[in-house]
Amino acid sequence: MALRTKLVAGNWKMNGLREDGAVLARALVQRMVAAAADVPGSELLVCPPATLLTTVGGLISGSGIALGGQDCHAAAKGAFTGDISAEMLADAGCTHVILGHSERRHGHGHGEGDTAVHEKILGAWRAGLTAILCVGETRAQREAGTAIDIVASQLAGSMPSSAASDTLVVAYEPVWAIGTGLTATLEDIAAMHAAIRTRLPAGTRILYGGSVNPQNAASILGLADVDGALVGGASLDAESFWTIARSCR
Ligand code: PEP
Repeated sequence: MALRTKLVAGNWKMNGLREDGAVLARALVQRMVAAAADVPGSELLVCPPATLLTTVGGLISGSGIALGGQDCHAAAKGAFTGDISAEMLADAGCTHVILGHSERRHGHGHGEGDTAVHEKILGAWRAGLTAILCVGETRAQREAGTAIDIVASQLAGSMPSSAASDTLVVAYEPVWAIGTGLTATLEDIAAMHAAIRTRLPAGTRILYGGSVNPQNAASILGLADVDGALVGGASLDAESFWTIARSCR
């Protein structure tokens, strides 16, 4: 990929019943139609909960908005109660899957480490999905001055050696900035993205995530090594998500 087209991805997390998902998807499609499927300079992706994939996938089909999952199991199938495979996501219409999100690395008993994330990425590729690999430091690690070392070690431990720019996207998401309303400074984002860039295959896109909103999007997305955004809370509102996407211009 010579030119790194910006990617704006919405992580809906565990939000929405079918009707909520349909309303949000229709509102985004309406905006895409009005813009003739042309959000200047960016690609759009939505990652709804698994129960909404079919509904949302049907509504956004042909609109130019892509569909993604929020996690997958490393195996293609088997006795893994409650899990979902990359093949199942692809079958539901997904082209992308978020992997190693901090809410899976650190939260609610999931405790996923780099090895598990590495295996999941291989699973995603086996099914033909692009993996969005999330990395990021905790507040304590940022304050200890080890943020870049931590992220470098997450990349080394979770990114398979066969990574390529058309099957991998990296999302830098400081854990302390997710869902808190806090964002890293532009200087810290620029320094981290530049450090990540040196560790990736040429042309790999690096997204920033952590309380991106319509007010701060343009300045973050304007940084040289920021190739898009992974958006949580603000992606649940069509106008906010659309404004962020249009900030890529
Ligand atoms: C996320 O969940 O990846 C995220 C960045 O969330 P928020 O935008 O709400 O901070």
